[in-house]
Amino acid sequence: MNPEGIYLDSNATTKIAPEVVEVMLPYLTEYYGNPSSMYKFGGQLAPIIKKARDQVAALLNADRDEIIFTSCGTESNNTAIRGVLAAYPEKKHIITTQVEHPAVMNVCHYLSQRGYEVTELSVDNYGRIELDELKESIRDDTVLLSIMYANNETGVLFPVQKIAEIAKEKGVLFHCDAVQAVGKLAIDLKKLPLDFLSISGHKLHAPKGIGILFARRGVKVDPYLLGGHQERGFRGGTENVPYIVGLAKACELAEKCFDCERNQVKALRDELEEALLKNIPYSKLNGNKDERLPNTTNVSFEFVEGEAILLLSDELGIAASSGSACTSGSLEPSHVLRAMGVLPTYIHGSVRFSLSRYTTKKEIDFVIDKFPGIIKRLREISPYGA
Ligand code: PLP
Repeated sequence: MNPEGIYLDSNATTKIAPEVVEVMLPYLTEYYGNPSSMYKFGGQLAPIIKKARDQVAALLNADRDEIIFTSCGTESNNTAIRGVLAAYPEKKHIITTQVEHPAVMNVCHYLSQRGYEVTELSVDNYGRIELDELKESIRDDTVLLSIMYANNETGVLFPVQKIAEIAKEKGVLFHCDAVQAVGKLAIDLKKLPLDFLSISGHKLHAPKGIGILFARRGVKVDPYLLGGHQERGFRGGTENVPYIVGLAKACELAEKCFDCERNQVKALRDELEEALLKNIPYSKLNGNKDERLPNTTNVSFEFVEGEAILLLSDELGIAASSGSACTSGSLEPSHVLRAMGVLPTYIHGSVRFSLSRYTTKKEIDFVIDKFPGIIKRLREISPYGA
C-alpha cells in the first residue's frame, strides 16, 4: 500500500502522474527562456506551446485556437463569465445553479451585487436540475448559462448536451465548468455545442497552477486578464511553459485512461459504496446513483460528525473529505447537500470519497474493513446516540 496513506480525495486534487513530472523537468531546469524572446533560447519554446495546445485540443476534439491557457479552473470560470458580460453590456441576466463550485457561485454573487440579476436553478433530492425550469428562466436579457458538467461533491452529472441545445435554440451562451469531468469522461466539443468550458490541471494528474478555457471560435468575449500579447492577446502573462507541457501530457494520458475510469475506477468506487451502505447502519448515498462521475461517492453516516470521521480516518492513513462545515474550509455545511434537501443530521455526517486511476483494490479493501469500526466508535461516544 502507498506509504503516504490511502488517498481518496482526488476531486480535491490529484497525484501528479510521473510521466507528467518527467516531461516538465527539462522546462524547469534547462529550457527556462521566455517564449516571446527573439533569440533561440526562448523562441524555441513557442513551437513547444503550439504542440501542447494541439494535445489539449485533441483530447476535447477542439481546434488549437480555441484553447486558452490560464492559471487554474477559477480563472477560467471568471474569464468566461466576466468576459461575456463585458462583451454584452446591455444584457444583465445570467442563469446558474444552486450547486456550483464557489469559483462560479461567488462570481455570480459578486455580480448580483453589481447590477446583474442571477437566477440559481434548484436541484431535486438527487442533485438534478429540471430542464423546464431552465427553459422558463431564459429571458430576453439573458446572456449566459453557467452550469457545471459534474458536481465536485456528489459527482452528479448535468445534462450538458441538452442544456447546450436549449442555449442554442434560445440564443444564449453556455459556459460549463467541467473541472471535475475533463480527464474522467470523454468530451467531444464538435458534438457538444457549448461555448465555453473550464478545465483545471490539478484535477487530471497535472500540477496545480495551470488551467484551460475552451472558447468557441467566433464567440464574442472580452479578455479578463489584460497584459501582453500572449494567448493572442486574450490572456496576458508570460506562458508557464513547464506546466503547459505537463498539462498537455496529462491530457494525452487521460485519453488513454478513459476505459480505466469507466471500468477499473468505477468498479472500485462501486465496491466501496456498496460495502459502506451494507455494513454501516443509518448510512445513505447522496446524489443520483446512475448519472455520476465514475470515481466519486458521497455517503452520509447519521449520528456522527464528518470532521470526527475524517480525524479518525486520518489516523489510519485514509484521506477523504467531508461536507460538514470546518473540514470543507468554510463555516457553512455543504451548500450542495442543503440544496438537495439532505437532512442536517445527514449533512453533518457526510463523507466524499473520490478515487483515481492510482487507487488500488488493496486500498479499497482496507477502507471497507476499517470504516464500520470508525463509525461505530464515534457513535458510541456521540451525544446523538444511534
Ligand atoms: N470548479 C470545480 C467544479 C471544482 O471542483 C474546482 C476545484 O475544486 C474548481 C472549479 C476550481 O479549480 P482550481 O482549483 O483550479 O481553481
